Amino acid sequence: MGRGSIHQLYPAVNENAERLKGHDAQHTNFSAGQALAETIRTTLGPKSMDKMLISSDGQIVVTNDGASILDRMDINHPTAEMVVRVAETQEDATGDGTTTAVLLTGELLGNAADLIEQGLHPTTISDGYHVATERVHETLRRATIEIDTDNLDQLREIARTVITGKWEDPDAQFLADLAVKAVKAIEHDESIDRRNITHQAIAGSGPRDSNVVDGLVIDMDRSSTSLVSPDTAFPRRIADATIALIDAQLTIEAATFGTVSFDDPEQRPALLEYEDQIYDEYVTTIADAGADVVFCQKSIDDPIRYLLAREGILAVERTRKDELLKLGRTTGAQHVGSVAHLTTTDTGHAEMVERRRVGDRALAIVTGGSDSRQVSIVLRGGTEHVNDEMKRILDDCLSALELAIEHREVLPGGGASEVMLAADLRDYAASVGGRSQLAVTAFADALEVIPRTLAENAGIDPIDSLIDLRTRQHEGDHTAGLDVLTGNVRDMVAAGVLEPPAIKQRAITSAQEASNIIIRIDDIIAASPDRN
Ligand code: ADP
Repeated sequence: MGRGSIHQLYPAVNENAERLKGHDAQHTNFSAGQALAETIRTTLGPKSMDKMLISSDGQIVVTNDGASILDRMDINHPTAEMVVRVAETQEDATGDGTTTAVLLTGELLGNAADLIEQGLHPTTISDGYHVATERVHETLRRATIEIDTDNLDQLREIARTVITGKWEDPDAQFLADLAVKAVKAIEHDESIDRRNITHQAIAGSGPRDSNVVDGLVIDMDRSSTSLVSPDTAFPRRIADATIALIDAQLTIEAATFGTVSFDDPEQRPALLEYEDQIYDEYVTTIADAGADVVFCQKSIDDPIRYLLAREGILAVERTRKDELLKLGRTTGAQHVGSVAHLTTTDTGHAEMVERRRVGDRALAIVTGGSDSRQVSIVLRGGTEHVNDEMKRILDDCLSALELAIEHREVLPGGGASEVMLAADLRDYAASVGGRSQLAVTAFADALEVIPRTLAENAGIDPIDSLIDLRTRQHEGDHTAGLDVLTGNVRDMVAAGVLEPPAIKQRAITSAQEASNIIIRIDDIIAASPDRN
């Protein structure tokens, strides 16, 4: 059908609009979703490959984290963008499982295309996919394994399952330990408040020099700490410290000089006197508030820092906004927008503020505030890139641990859950009336993309692995999965390949929702670029 005739039939549509209908629309959409899945296919699992992404401004990221890859790809196909949004939701909700969600979406779309070829109506397919998802959730609820959240070995295994393949092996266990240590330090009544974990990245060493430090680590590097002269040298440790937080800058702005002129040498003494008076006011107000340490979001004039130092008050300038917020929560200090407003009621308390040098960076470590469950992970990778990737991986680990501890349950990984779910769905399909049972079976087949891809990426025969897995599961061994490190099908609980159920549940739901939206589209109308 030519453009002219579309315009006659649909006068509301701009005659320059691009339009695809029916089979063409479906084909374009399904292909885009499948192509996206294909792009990140090789990044699934422990034996996956990395991707190097170079942004238009030349920034380089090497990663195999599905979310990071999709986030950085320049995608301009609307359907592919929808699938990317699935990945984003997955990442936001659970911190992991993005590759799984996107692969599953691609597979569901591919299977839907086959069913349409066979004559199934798209709505029958989406109904079947919906029914299958409901069944999957029911089955998953019954398949979870309860964990003891005090069993550190088991927690390490959960973290390790996230890291395996994303980081080189000898250091993977080290990172898993780091994540468990951080999470256990802030755990309170089996709940985890991630805001209590701070990261500080200091390049120039090696990943194994990273550690978890009790307390809040604040970067003082932006402060000119050299100004602290010998006669005003601070002790390294300030015990029982009163903390003040100031959002403004501690400077004198030219505008406040009023009628005193910079250009007139005669007025210089008056100018200096005026400056001294203002500086004294700042220092007196801060001292009267009883502060031992002042964290200031903006800059502090050198003379003020010097005068504060003489009073025994450590002044830290250019503290980041997020660090100030954490300091407020940890010490109970209120932020003040201007020094003039600072009073004793605004200050907070910490048992200790310690200055420490790590690498070439000066840090302030604040411990024992009113909310003392604060830890910081100090990352010591050799370069910024390494630290960025370490942080991404640790974040995923922390999310998995948070879910596992809060829900006290896990699922076996290595494709075990997917094969179990697929077998259950195939049995269940027979009880679903009408043609949508074909879609339920197609859903089961799609789930097996996970064990197949894990095997492929590890160079293991996917067909043999899948047959082996199905047989073991059929024999009632529901925790049998593919251990890609050895190439054998084995008990995933014994192998320590464990994942929080929420990640899997979310990945399957997101994939089904996205594919159902795409399957039901049979008409694509794109406004012409020149249309307002
Ligand atoms: P995603 O972004 O979907 O989380 P990953 O690349 O992190 O993708 O891979 C996760 C998959 O790898 C999960 O299915 C998990 O069960 C599996 N996996 C992790 N460790 C192992 C292992 N040792 N053997 C087999 N599969 C594993």
